[in-house]
Amino acid sequence: MPRILIVGGGYAGFYTARKLEKYLRKNEAEVTMIDPLPYMTYQPFLPEVAAGSIEPRHAVVSHRRHLKRTEIITGRVTDVSHTNKKVTIEVPGLAPFDREYDHVVVTAGAVSRTFPIPGVAEVAIGMKTIEEAIEVRHRILINFDKASNLPEGPERARLMTFVVVGGGFAGIEAFAEMLSLATYLLRYYPNLKFEEINFHLVEAMSRIMPEVSLKTSYWVIKNLEGRSAKIHLDTQLLSADNGMIELSTGEKFGAATIVWTAGVMANPVVKHTDLPTDERGRITANTALRVVDGENLIEGAWTCGDVSAVPDLSGDGVGGYCVPNAQHAVRQGKLMAKNLVAALRGEGLKDYNHKNMGAVAGLGIGVGVFQYRNLAVTGFLAWLMHRGYHGLAMPMWERKIRVFSGWILNFVLRRDVVSIDAVKNPRLAFETWASRAKN
Ligand SMILES: Cc1cc2nc3c(=O)[nH]c(=O)nc-3n(C[C@H](O)[C@H](O)[C@H](O)COP(=O)(O)OP(=O)(O)OC[C@H]3O[C@@H](n4cnc5c(N)ncnc54)[C@H](O)[C@@H]3O)c2cc1C
Repeated sequence: MPRILIVGGGYAGFYTARKLEKYLRKNEAEVTMIDPLPYMTYQPFLPEVAAGSIEPRHAVVSHRRHLKRTEIITGRVTDVSHTNKKVTIEVPGLAPFDREYDHVVVTAGAVSRTFPIPGVAEVAIGMKTIEEAIEVRHRILINFDKASNLPEGPERARLMTFVVVGGGFAGIEAFAEMLSLATYLLRYYPNLKFEEINFHLVEAMSRIMPEVSLKTSYWVIKNLEGRSAKIHLDTQLLSADNGMIELSTGEKFGAATIVWTAGVMANPVVKHTDLPTDERGRITANTALRVVDGENLIEGAWTCGDVSAVPDLSGDGVGGYCVPNAQHAVRQGKLMAKNLVAALRGEGLKDYNHKNMGAVAGLGIGVGVFQYRNLAVTGFLAWLMHRGYHGLAMPMWERKIRVFSGWILNFVLRRDVVSIDAVKNPRLAFETWASRAKN
């Protein structure tokens, strides 16, 4: 039986595996999916997880529960040798081992792209994983707890200062949702004042959210400023050393929470493969999602999603290639399964062609924006559209139901403001009181 091996179980990998389960006949091929995490993450929900509007576990989808005919390996691919048609896998606690394949599908996604700015690697946090979103929520809650015990002064101001670097779609959503949580929290901290919350968005370009029109982006800025946030356009972060923010405008202030959302880059694991890449480190593909080196087809190698450079036939792409987003990753994953099955059966492959469906963002409870070409919707209606669209786009009905139920419960019972941060040290209580053998 031919062996298909999928590297990465995010949007693209999960949908490839799921559709292969549907299209493959019995004993037509063996499918294995490898991912260090046992779940795919619905990343558009990360800002709402950080704001406490969605339970973290509801924003991820279990691989094993929903991929019953796929072999799942919860481990990290460290190397792909396509010449030898094998990958090397690392599973914590085990010696690295190899797996051979006939077809490899690389869907390892993207990681946060940073610049060598002092302090960023040491103190900032991204908004690309569920773990980061959970931590950001914990930090907001914990900083409020700490600040409420302090008299007004520099340390209290530092704890109440939040910086988001990067005014793209994800950055603005994260910023607005964090702001929404912080403002909401004030009701539980009578000694903290609204004026003490400091939210700074730092964007190097002269505008935010390039996915929406300039007019819509101004509406977003006005909305955020109306909620007392500070938007620094044409501004660069020069340093975040020890949490001391230094901006290119000369401003300096301390911040206890620095979230970095200034772009993504193809997963650097591609450097440990012998597959061809472009100047941005993405695996080069043709429109049928097969890996190509210029004009040459690399037999048995396939790629899609954020890790790949797939030509955009719709004409919407940046530099002629599909932009890294879920709209493409999901559809490419589905087409990948169809094309793999067609290739196994010696049938013709289909080209990937998807016209952008527009963008919808949630900016905190009751506020959103939607843009499709010249049509823009802002405010409450757009927020409903955001929730409606993403609630339904979340894979698997059991997940959709959990997300919708959570929103309804939050509406009735209000947002949950508990932080179980002690989970980071789960043995503390036991260890503190454990009887020890006397020597
Ligand atoms: C905050 C935020 C909001 C977003 N909002 C939107 C939105 O509203 N609309 C939209 O269209 N897009 C949105 N996106 C973008 C979208 O989520 C991504 O484009 C999409 O997840 C890409 O899918 P992918 O499968 O290529 O990568 P991913 O979904 O990132 O999956 C990659 C997978 O590869 C795994 N992996 C990594 N390294 C290895 C390895 N060495 N070996 C094996 N597996 C590995 C990872 O664990 C992961 O599961 C948002 C992203 C973020 C961060």
